Amino acid sequence: MPKLKKEAPVSCSTSPLALLGGCKTVTSEMEDLFTWPIITNEDESAVLSVLRRCGMSSTDVSRKFEEKFALWQGSKYGLAHNNGTASLHAALFACKVGRYDEVIAPSITYWGALMGTFSLGATLIFADIDPISLCIDPKDIERRITPRTKAIIVVHYTGYPADMDAIMSIANKQGIKVIEDVSHAQGGLYKGKRLGTIGHVAGMSLMTGKSFAIGEGGMLTTDDLEIYERAIAWGHYERSNNLQTPYLRESAGLPLGGHKYRMHQLSSAVGLVQLKYYDQRCAEIRKSMNYFWDLLEGVPGIRAHRVDEASGSNMAGWYAARGHYVPEELKGLSVTAFCRAVEAEGCPIAPGCNRPLHTHALFSKTDIYNDGKPTRLANASRNLLEDDQTLPVSEGIARRVFSIPWFKHYRPDIIRQYADAIRKVSANYESLLSQDSGNSESMGSWNFTRHQ
Ligand SMILES: *Cc1c(COP(=O)(O)O)cnc(C)c1O
Repeated sequence: MPKLKKEAPVSCSTSPLALLGGCKTVTSEMEDLFTWPIITNEDESAVLSVLRRCGMSSTDVSRKFEEKFALWQGSKYGLAHNNGTASLHAALFACKVGRYDEVIAPSITYWGALMGTFSLGATLIFADIDPISLCIDPKDIERRITPRTKAIIVVHYTGYPADMDAIMSIANKQGIKVIEDVSHAQGGLYKGKRLGTIGHVAGMSLMTGKSFAIGEGGMLTTDDLEIYERAIAWGHYERSNNLQTPYLRESAGLPLGGHKYRMHQLSSAVGLVQLKYYDQRCAEIRKSMNYFWDLLEGVPGIRAHRVDEASGSNMAGWYAARGHYVPEELKGLSVTAFCRAVEAEGCPIAPGCNRPLHTHALFSKTDIYNDGKPTRLANASRNLLEDDQTLPVSEGIARRVFSIPWFKHYRPDIIRQYADAIRKVSANYESLLSQDSGNSESMGSWNFTRHQ
């Protein structure tokens, strides 16, 4: 256990805000509280053994990893990819998304799952998010479905499970495929079921910044043999020789997608070791993060972004976790000013979340393939830029959320200091009102950078 440098002086919670010259609430040394992933000798020897026999580009370790990962998650098939973006590109193809098809996805997410629609000639349709879960809103999905809709991409945003019952019922009624992007929520539960096993197929990142962190890597999982084999045919030429799906046999030996998507075996070697400890380590993260939010129950201006674990759901590994901000309870103090003051107390938090992708030129202007019009509109049946005007929650959410620290160990005395920092700023918010210069237009970012 790391030692506290010194006990937070009892008077600090009653001193002025650190930003205004008072004492700083968080006095602990960080040490390994935020270090991730946890790498031991076991990971190191697994990597060395692959290196020493020059097995980096084979598939034996990766196949073992796929098998164990699928078994652990509760899926029939796993297919290891070189990154999450590749696994999601493969998932789109595997769901038969092609030219003129429409794919519905949230605008508040990382671009990885969405961009694959461009090269498939499909049309990306943005749906709004739910302001509480921050995941795609089933009601908004429903009104955007057309006869062209082929798939829905669902992201369990920052670990919060999307409303899968509602989404699956809409999709199954209309014969639409559901692709779960589990990049933020590997191993998480929705009403007792593992995320990634509820939709027709899942793709996810296993890169170093995520909860399930193995290096560059991604995993596709499914229970559907044809989906699995289409994903093999798309990007795994070396494994396409003995496919059972008859129409895929003619492409044996060469990749349908022209992609080479297999996982590097230094990653799968790490993955096999990480898998052994993942549930246990995530359980400690959940205990720590829930403790943090328990300490902050009832604090004006903020709300937890979390599920009640008694429902059988959970927040997986709390990747890039957020809190809700309610400026109305703090006389309109901007989340930017709030975060700056909390940061000065020694607790690193930041306003916003992913920026709405529909506001980026790539999704409204850029002509990538020389179609003479923006790529996103190239195969569209209508002017999607008008549809993009109806995403109010996505456009306003940055002013109502902030990132929170990601505790990897249950150390209640230290976690309490971080919670106290937020509590203190909430209690003293009035001293910030006069110098609040508001939120900037471009809050949040196109991707999450790591604060370590
Ligand atoms: C990280 C991420 C991806 C992409 O995964 P990579 O391994 O970085 O290619 C896709 N979707 C979401 C939601 C992500 O956060």
